[in-house]
Amino acid sequence: MTTVEAPASHLRENPFELAKQQLRKVADAFEIDANLVEVLSECKKAVTVSIPTRMDDGAVQVFQGYRVTHNIARGPSKGGIRYHPDVTLDEVKALAMWMTWKSALMGIPFGGAKGGVVCNPKALSRDELERMTRRFTSEIINEIGPEKDIPAPDVGTDASVMAWIFDTYSMNKGHSVLGVVTGKPIEIGGSLGREEATARGAQFCVRAAMRKRDIRPNGATVAIQGFGNVGSFLAQFMVDDGARVIALSDSSGGVYNRDGIDVAAAFAHKGETGVLAGLRGAEAISNEDLLLLECDVLAPCALEQVIHEGNAPEVKARIVCEGANGPTTPAADEILEDAGVLVLPDILANAGGVVVSYFEWVQGLQEYFWKESEVNAKLNDIVTRAFNETWAEHECRGLSMRLSAYGIAVERVAEATTTRGLYP
Ligand code: GLU
Repeated sequence: MTTVEAPASHLRENPFELAKQQLRKVADAFEIDANLVEVLSECKKAVTVSIPTRMDDGAVQVFQGYRVTHNIARGPSKGGIRYHPDVTLDEVKALAMWMTWKSALMGIPFGGAKGGVVCNPKALSRDELERMTRRFTSEIINEIGPEKDIPAPDVGTDASVMAWIFDTYSMNKGHSVLGVVTGKPIEIGGSLGREEATARGAQFCVRAAMRKRDIRPNGATVAIQGFGNVGSFLAQFMVDDGARVIALSDSSGGVYNRDGIDVAAAFAHKGETGVLAGLRGAEAISNEDLLLLECDVLAPCALEQVIHEGNAPEVKARIVCEGANGPTTPAADEILEDAGVLVLPDILANAGGVVVSYFEWVQGLQEYFWKESEVNAKLNDIVTRAFNETWAEHECRGLSMRLSAYGIAVERVAEATTTRGLYP
């Protein structure tokens, strides 16, 4: 039997410390009660489990898994499950905290949670992934539930993983529980539009930001880091809006063409070869250099802390759209702010996913499913309203978009907490 331990993290700084630092800054600017800040700085619950899994060769590997609930003042906790070799408990805690703010900013009735398993999903067979996911689900079965805590996809997980979680939970309960997880395949209670939702939300934010900055979408230049669920669809949507996608990347590197990349060909090439590298009609570019390209919109859509103190002064984009969670460190944030870059913060720019997760949860509870056009229209309403609320705060108080968005969110959670009162 072998045990898989967390490798040294890819993160430069402890993400939970950064998230708490961010909260303190917001609390100062918005004069949030110090007692409340104490409460909100911690996660309500963090569960660590070991996940013994039979591998295809007959050996047993023990993976480490986490499920963290940050806060439930505004509703059941909600947030994805990440499968990545570098996942740490503090990273999951930071991500859980950001989910609390994200749901609050969107005005949807959820708290925040996140989960993670330390593994490399690309190195596991489908059968191994299924066995590991089912065992993980059974280890956290008392933590999750439709009124309690509702997982969803995140980095390294997809609709199939959600199907296994849904099935394992349901088999244990003796009946189908649609509301236990979102991001499910359509045929078993998923929502139309959920897969593309995070990128759609980002598209709505980029459109609104371009209007504010007098940038015409037609011909605008866009560089996107990450070609997973967020980056790939965002590239497509930017092309649909008439923009020129000049660079794309995945974990193995990037491709660049100043005249515009053929995004449909990039999808086909990635489908055939598994990587973007080698795409015809584009030259190679590193993930680091992609971030420094001159462009109208830079969208980091992969992992945290890619824009940091070291490279922030060299970022030349006019708008940064945070498709990923936490891609900009607080130090980098200040540098971008001083340079006049318009940063669309993660809890605004990538909230489309959790918004349509909310729709999926509602549809599942009602067993009544909506048309895709209805899903997208309702998503647009919610994200655009949140953008406008954030913009108004930014204009009125002269605060950055991040501070404005986080301030609105933290105030909402603080208000719910105060209204409910401290138990007992
Ligand atoms: N993992 C996504 C996020 O970071 C989606 C969470 C959800 O739908 O619950 O927002």
